Order: sequence, then structure tokens, then C-alpha cells
Amino acid sequence: MKALTAKTIIGCSLALVCLFGLAQASTGQTKRFLVVIDAGHGGWDPGATGYYGTQEKDISLNIARFIRLLGLYDDEISIVLTRSEDIYIPHRERTGLANRLRADLFVSIHANAHPRHAAANGIEVLVHDDRSLPTYPQNRALALLLQKRLTRALGVTDRGIKHQTLFIRWAEMPAVLIEVGFLTNPTEELKLRSFLYQWTVAQVIFTTIKEYLRSTTAR
Ligand SMILES: [Zn+2]
Repeated sequence: MKALTAKTIIGCSLALVCLFGLAQASTGQTKRFLVVIDAGHGGWDPGATGYYGTQEKDISLNIARFIRLLGLYDDEISIVLTRSEDIYIPHRERTGLANRLRADLFVSIHANAHPRHAAANGIEVLVHDDRSLPTYPQNRALALLLQKRLTRALGVTDRGIKHQTLFIRWAEMPAVLIEVGFLTNPTEELKLRSFLYQWTVAQVIFTTIKEYLRSTTAR
């Protein structure tokens, strides 16, 4: 009888945990905004590698995970990651996920490398270089805001926003790619390796995304 009671208690507890989980999940779906965060590279593709051996895929994943964590405690924004572990996902699938979910924004996180100048440092936010893209004005507006907020908050070099041919053009919503710093600069690499710095970068990205989304719905 005692064993049965214990089993019943465990069963009830599990049911409650499941129900709580479902309630949490449904709360998430009713949030105002959905943002897809893409941790660049992954798996067989390490991206850039720093002087101390830091790999871009790890920095981008840590920052993406921190952003997801911030989303868990936010009433307005749900965060979905294109990858939450060390795996490679083709670019088409990354933007495809955002399109399927009808996300409000797509933000890809990367770290930079300069093949010749170890002194190169600072932040760049990139947009796809095509004025005919329907989201081009929004892409630029979001990139400029992120560039401003990130460089001011982190006190790093403002390299300005850049226009390049990028896979983010396949996203049907505003999309930017953030280069959070240079792994080929040993000083910047050491900063980027620190969890505290990654957390700060994540916080600035999250609050800026929120500021941007609120401003677009306020118009
Ligand atoms: Zn990259």
C-alpha cells in the first residue's frame, strides 16, 4: 500500500510537471513576437579560429543560447534557435525554419576574422546587398540600431554596417548578420571567450531587438 501511495505521488508529480510544461509552452506561443536566432556555423564547420584556438561556432552558439535564455523570461518575445548544439545546418534550412514559423526577425550571430591584420577589431552588422529586397529598408534600420547599441554598450570599434551577398536574403522577414568581434585579434578573442562578455553581448542584442520590434508596431 505504501509503495502504491509513493507511486501515485510520483505519478501525480510527473503529471503536474507535464501540465506546467504545456502551460509554459502555450504561454510562449501567445507572445507578441517570434525571433529566430541563428548561431553561425557548427559541426564540421568551425568558422573562424582564433590565435588561442577559439572557434567561431562555439562563440556564436553560446551567445545564441544566452539570447534564448533571456527570451524565456520575457513577456513579449519568444526566441527559437536554428541550432542549440554543435551541429551543422545548411543555410537554406536556417532561413527555412524562420519562414515556416513566420518569425518577425531573423538574426544570425557570427565572429569575424581578418586574414592579414591581427589588429582588426570591432563590430559589424551586415545586411544582404540588394535594394530590391522587400525587407531592405527594415534590414538597414535594424542593422544601424544594433550597430549603434552594441558598439556603445561594449565600448568597441564601430566599423559601420556592411552590405554583402548573404544567405539571409532567403529570410522573408527582416534579417541581419552580426559579427560580434574579431577572433583573429588576440585581445578581442580573449574577451569573446568570456561568458560574462558573451552574456553582455546577448543582453544588448536582445534589448535592441525588443526596441526595434516595439518601434515597428508603434507606427
Ligand atoms: Zn561566420
